[in-house]
Amino acid sequence: MSGPNNSSSGERSAAGMAAMDAALMGVGVFVLVAGFRTLTGNFTTGSSLWLANGFALGLLLTVPRSRWPLLLAAGTIAGAGGAFYLHADATVIPWFALFDGVEVLVAAALLSGTIRRADDLTSRSNFLRFLAGAALLGPASLVLALALFYFVLGQSFELVAAERVLIGHALGMTVMTPVVLALRNGEIRRYLRPGIIAETLLMLVLLAAICALVFFQNTVPLLFLIFPPMMRVAYRGGFVGTAVALLVVVASGALATASGYGPIAAMRTSENLANYPLLADGYIALQIFNASLLVSLFPMIVAIAEGRRAHQATEELQNRLRLLMDHSSDVIVLTDLDGRRLYVSPAVREVMGIEPEQFLRLTWRDYVHELDRGEIGAQIVEAQRTRTSRVLVFRANHASGAVVWIEANMKYFRDRTFDLMQAEKDSGVQRNRGVEGDEGFVVTMRDISARRRAELELESANAELATLIRKDSLTGLANRRRFDEVLEAAWARALAGGWPIAVLMIDVDHFKQFNDCYGHQRGDLCLRDVADAIISGLFHPDDVAARYGGEEFAVILPRTTTDNAALVAERIRRAVQDLRRPHMASPLGILTVSVGVAAAWPVAHGDPLAVVRAADEALYTSKNEGRNRTTLLDVSWPAGNAIPAR
Ligand code: GH3
Ligand code: MG
Ligand code: MG
Repeated sequence: MSGPNNSSSGERSAAGMAAMDAALMGVGVFVLVAGFRTLTGNFTTGSSLWLANGFALGLLLTVPRSRWPLLLAAGTIAGAGGAFYLHADATVIPWFALFDGVEVLVAAALLSGTIRRADDLTSRSNFLRFLAGAALLGPASLVLALALFYFVLGQSFELVAAERVLIGHALGMTVMTPVVLALRNGEIRRYLRPGIIAETLLMLVLLAAICALVFFQNTVPLLFLIFPPMMRVAYRGGFVGTAVALLVVVASGALATASGYGPIAAMRTSENLANYPLLADGYIALQIFNASLLVSLFPMIVAIAEGRRAHQATEELQNRLRLLMDHSSDVIVLTDLDGRRLYVSPAVREVMGIEPEQFLRLTWRDYVHELDRGEIGAQIVEAQRTRTSRVLVFRANHASGAVVWIEANMKYFRDRTFDLMQAEKDSGVQRNRGVEGDEGFVVTMRDISARRRAELELESANAELATLIRKDSLTGLANRRRFDEVLEAAWARALAGGWPIAVLMIDVDHFKQFNDCYGHQRGDLCLRDVADAIISGLFHPDDVAARYGGEEFAVILPRTTTDNAALVAERIRRAVQDLRRPHMASPLGILTVSVGVAAAWPVAHGDPLAVVRAADEALYTSKNEGRNRTTLLDVSWPAGNAIPAR
């Protein structure tokens, strides 16, 4: 595909379309002008119904402005041709054709851009603009041009003639333009769809029959019978249908009147006509009748169309809201200030297992789990009292019996719309919407069980991790890190409470050789047994035993003096000895431990590790004095750290 080919074919088709439009304009205007005599019987009586310019206006509104000069030229030439065909006065033909062009141009300039389709006419502002351009300014400019023309020629332009031209053109434009727009934009197809076309045809036939009955007989005055079917057409057929029907009425009325038939023609035959020139004219009565039809029907159509649009917009909004409410996975609840429910979305079936109608009659007490009822109730009451928003997380009893976690976002609002919910007010149920009637809560509730489970799992994993990093994996005792923490805390408590704190340091005797003789694995099992022995020697729940190093253990004994600590130490030492675990590399033949004991009353700004160091020193003494024994520290303390406890 090459560009130049495309653009040249595009230009060709644009030029072709312009030529087609110009031809359409020429033929249309010529037929409507030349057919004018047929329609009104007498060309010289003036433009009692001038359709050609409405046709031209409709056409101009459907093409780009750049095409206007061509179409206006075609229309003017065709108009002049039509007048020539009717043997009009050759000296005025070009002028009148030109004036018609002026009228069409004035109206088109005012309407182009706003009105492209017949449907555009159904908005109030567009319709008023259309009336201003097509029924007022356009025809007025024509009448002005004519008046100027007659003035220059020195001839009189009679008021009756001016009136007839003005109304004749205004009628022609207002009736013809919508029809042309609908034809050009395919909107006319709406009336020709299967299922509709029968009604359309029936309406047209009925209307034609009524027109014939009204206009083509001189016996019964049925003129006003035209109104009922026209009302029906206006209601069902809209703008275009009414414009077409008006064309039928206006044309048949003109034809009948020109031929001396019908109630309008009858007016001209009454007596004393010489005294009533306007009555004698006849056409003016017909024009006024037609204009009154148009003036009563078109605004009604606009009103109906606007009403329908407003109704559609409301329905659209309603549908959107319903979709949101029905398919929201969150439960949406509307309540008054006291928590009485006005609306709940269907998601409550899923989230709580409760039917919406039933949920409306419940209160939070009916489903909040008893463990959370106190706390949640207090929060709800507080929110209602202070008229504030909050987020509540609670357990709820699902209808299935399961307990679910709910997160409820309770949002306080003030909104005039709430006061406008009249149906709800009329229900007779007592509501508390505040003084102005516009206050309430919107509560969105969602099931957060899955999230909550994950949170709880994470919490327990974290807790486990926390203990893990403070626990010795081999013996299950506290590790060195934990020991330091506990010592620090116990020291602070002892300082505050004014009681002593004791520390035991325990070391396995000849453990290197134990490993050498029995292997490292047996050594590990042995360390576990020692740990168990240590635990068995502790009676107080505040006592903490830790694995301090490889085969070295430490015990913190709060509220304990050196003497009492020595008793605990001896219990532990004996417990290990009583295991009677063989140790062939030890002089005693069994596994034993040595223990060092120290205790002190803490003083402010003292160093807790001083007690540990003292116990370690005591342990060293136990080792030196033959092992499998307990030594109490009996050395002097570093000043200011603690006071030795005896
Ligand atoms: P002493 O009576 O003087 O305490 O003699 P010892 O052999 O026990 O000397 P020391 O306290 O220095 O011994 C440390 C030994 O403890 C070194 C190592 O073989 C052993 N040990 C340290 N940690 C572990 C452990 O986790 N498992 C095992 N099986 N043995 C360990
Ligand atoms: Mg050691
Ligand atoms: Mg040792």
